[in-house]
Amino acid sequence: MDTLYRPEGVEERWQRTWEEEGLYRAGAGARRDETFVIAVPPPNVTGALHLGHALNGTIQDALVRLHRMQGYDTLWQPGYDHAGISTQNVVEKQLVAEGTSRKELGRDAFVERVWRHLEETGRTIMGQFRRLGASLDYSRERFTMDDAYIEAVMRFFVHLWERGWIYRAERIVNWCPFHETAISDLEVVHVEMDDALTYARYPFADGSGSVTVATVRPATILADVAVAVHPDDERYRDAIGKDVLVPVVERAVPVIADERVQPEFGTGALKVTPGHDPTDFEIGRDHGLEILTVIGPDARTSDAAPDGFAGLPQEEADERVVAWLREHDRLERRESYRHAVGTCERCHTRIEPLVSDQWWCAMEEPRKPALEALRERRVRYHPESQHAFAIRSFEQIPDWNVSRQLWWGHQIPIWTCPDGHRTCTWPEPDACAECDSGELERDPDVLDTWFSSALWPYATLGWPHETPELERYYPGNVNSTAREIIRLWENRMIWTGLEVMGEVPFSDVIIHSTVLAPDGRRMSKSLGTGIDPMDMIEKHGADATRYGLLKMSSTQDVRFAEGMIEEGRKLANKLWNVARLILGNAEGVEPGARPATLEERWIFARLDGATREVEEALRAFEFSRAVQTLYRVTFDDFCDWYAEAAKPLLYERDPRATATALAALERLLALLHPVLPHVTEEIWTALPAREARLVVSPWPEPSGEWDGAADALERVQDAAAIYRRSGVRVALGPEEERIFAAVVRPAEPNGGGNARAEIERLRKEVARGERMLSDARFVENAPADVVEAEREKLARYQRELDALER
Ligand SMILES: [Zn+2]
Ligand SMILES: [Zn+2]
Repeated sequence: MDTLYRPEGVEERWQRTWEEEGLYRAGAGARRDETFVIAVPPPNVTGALHLGHALNGTIQDALVRLHRMQGYDTLWQPGYDHAGISTQNVVEKQLVAEGTSRKELGRDAFVERVWRHLEETGRTIMGQFRRLGASLDYSRERFTMDDAYIEAVMRFFVHLWERGWIYRAERIVNWCPFHETAISDLEVVHVEMDDALTYARYPFADGSGSVTVATVRPATILADVAVAVHPDDERYRDAIGKDVLVPVVERAVPVIADERVQPEFGTGALKVTPGHDPTDFEIGRDHGLEILTVIGPDARTSDAAPDGFAGLPQEEADERVVAWLREHDRLERRESYRHAVGTCERCHTRIEPLVSDQWWCAMEEPRKPALEALRERRVRYHPESQHAFAIRSFEQIPDWNVSRQLWWGHQIPIWTCPDGHRTCTWPEPDACAECDSGELERDPDVLDTWFSSALWPYATLGWPHETPELERYYPGNVNSTAREIIRLWENRMIWTGLEVMGEVPFSDVIIHSTVLAPDGRRMSKSLGTGIDPMDMIEKHGADATRYGLLKMSSTQDVRFAEGMIEEGRKLANKLWNVARLILGNAEGVEPGARPATLEERWIFARLDGATREVEEALRAFEFSRAVQTLYRVTFDDFCDWYAEAAKPLLYERDPRATATALAALERLLALLHPVLPHVTEEIWTALPAREARLVVSPWPEPSGEWDGAADALERVQDAAAIYRRSGVRVALGPEEERIFAAVVRPAEPNGGGNARAEIERLRKEVARGERMLSDARFVENAPADVVEAEREKLARYQRELDALER
C-alpha cells in the first residue's frame, strides 16, 4: 500500500469493476426477500451534473448501499427526462444561430433534429453519476421518450380521458412569446424591471365626471371590460354600478366591486382585462364578464385592436395609446415604477399572461386518495414542515394545464374528425369513434413534461404491462428531491400511483438541503456562483466530495463549504494510514475477533455503538449526523485511541491481537462503506481471505457482546486530558497505565504539573456548571443541545476532579 492515499485512478477502477461484476444490478447480493427501491429523479437529458444532483445522488446512494449490505433486494432505477421546453430551446437556439428556425424546418424535421442532438451530446449525467460512485442499476436506464415509455404516457392519458377528467377550456396561462407555448409557474423567473405607471381617466358614460386607473401596460386598455374597486373603498362608493368609457375604443363598461382589488395600489380603481391578467381573469369569471384579447401569441397587438393599433409590438402600442390619452386629455400623469416581471426561464422573454385554449386535467377527484394517504402518513415527507406543505398543496390544488404548444414531447392522443368528434385512444385510431370517418387530425399539442415524469415509479418498471419487475419492485421505498418540485412532481407521482397501481409509490420523501454559494447567494451559472461537483471530485476524490456534501446537509438551506470536503479527504487518508499499520504487520494472519485487552473490548463496543447511531441517523434521513458519527469513530476512537494503544502488540506481531485488529478494521470499513465506498473497497481487497466485494458484504450488525466496555477508556481519556492540559499525572490501574503510556507518550514519566492548582480550577468549573444547571430559567429556555453539552461538561469535570483527588 502506498504511503499516501490517492483517489485518482482508484475510484474509477472500482466504479468499472463494480458495474462490470454486476454488483450495481437490481438484486445484487440479496440475502432476504424484502426489497428496497429508489427511482432516481430523472435529470434533463441535455443537462450536466450540478451540486444539487451530486448531493441528492450521494443521499440515495448511501441509503441504497446500506440496504444492499443489509441483504435487501435493492433497485436504484436510473434514467432521463426528455425535458420538453428545455431541450426544444437548446435546439431552437442552434437553429437561430444557423440562420434558420423551427418553423422553417417543419415539425417532423425538427423532432428528428432533436433526436440527433441528443445522440451527439445528450445523456451525460449518468456518466457523471458513475464518477460519483452512485450504484444505480445502469443496465436498466430508461428515457421518457422511449417507445415503451411513450406507450405508458399515452395509456395513462387515455385512462384519464375515460375517467372524464380531461377537458378543454380557455384559461389564462403563462405564455412565452418566443417559444409560443404555455409554461408552468416554475419556469417563470421574476426579475425587477423599471416601467412607467400610466394614470388614465375613464369618464362616466353619463358625463358626471371620471375614474382614474393606473396601468403598466396601456396597450391592454383596448381589451378592458370593466373597472373594479374594493367594496369598502369610500372614494368609489357612488361609482359602483355606473358605466365608464374605455379610452380609444370608447366602449361603455361597468364599475364593479370586488374584494380582490387592492385599494392602496395606484388610485384604488383597477382596470379589468380578463384576457391579459390572471387576477382580472378570475374577477371577470366571477362577475360573468366577457374575455377580450388584443395581444396575440407573438406578443404583438392582434387584429382585434382598432385601426392604427393592430400588428404592433407592445411597447409601440403602449406609446400610441398614451399618445391618444394625451391628445384627448385623458392622461393624468406617468410615473416611473419598479416591479417584478415574469420572464421565461429559458429565453428570458417577458411572459405574457394570455387566455388560451388548453387541455386540463380536473384535480378534484384524483387528489382525494392522495390527500388521505398524506394525512394518514402512508407517505411521509421529511422534514415535517414539507409534509405540511405537501398536504396544503393538495388542498389548494388547481386543475392541471397538461397541454404545451411545443413540438418536442408526447403528442396528445386526441384525434378530431371533420364533424368535430373527438376520439381519444391508443394505439392510434383508424377512424372516428362516433361517425367512423377516416379523416382524422391529431391534436398538435404535446403534454407537459411533468405529465410523463408523474408516471416514473411504475412506467420504468414496465407499466401498463404486468411485468415481473413491476410485481417485485412496486411500490418503492424512498424518493429524494429538491423542495421546488413537491407540487410539480412528488405529489403527482403519489396521486397517479394511487390511481393506476392502487398503492402509493413510496413511503418516504426526502426533501434535501438546498446548497447555496459560500456567500449565501443562490448557486447559478449565470450569477457565476455555481460550483461544479466534477471539479470537487477531480480535486478531492468522489469519497471526499460525498462525505463533504452529506456533512453540509444539516438544514434546509446550507452554504457550500469546501472545508467539509477536505475533511472527508483527511478522513480517507487517516483510514488508509491505520489500515497500513495493521496490514503491514499482519502477514499470514486471518481476521478473527478475539478481544482480550481493555482497548480491544472497548473498540468493538464503540464500533457497535457507532453502527447503531449511523443506522438510526440514516433511518431518520439525518445524513449530517451520520457522517459526524463516522468521523468520530474513525478518527478519535479507532485511529487515535485503539490503534495507538494496540500498536506495541501489533509491532510484536502478536497473532491474537493482529487477528482482532483485522476484524475490527473489517467492521470499520463496512460501516464507512455507504459514505466512502471507494477507499473502503480498496482497503478491503488488501485484507486477507476476501470472499466477496465489500459492496455486497454483510452490514456489521451490532452484537451487543461488548456493550459493557463502551466506557472502558473513560478514566484513561480523562487522565490524558488532564495531563495534556496541565502536565499533572493521575493514578491509573496497570492496564490503563499501559494504554496511557502508548497513546499519550508522556515526556516526563511522573508528570510535572501543579496538581493543587488543577484541582482548584476543576472545583471552580464544577461549581459554575452546577450553578448553571440548577438555574431553572437556563435549563428551560436554552436549546436542548446546549443544556446537554453543559451536563456532559460538568460530568467530565466531576470525573476529572474525582480522579485527581483519589
Ligand atoms: Zn421562452
Ligand atoms: Zn366523427
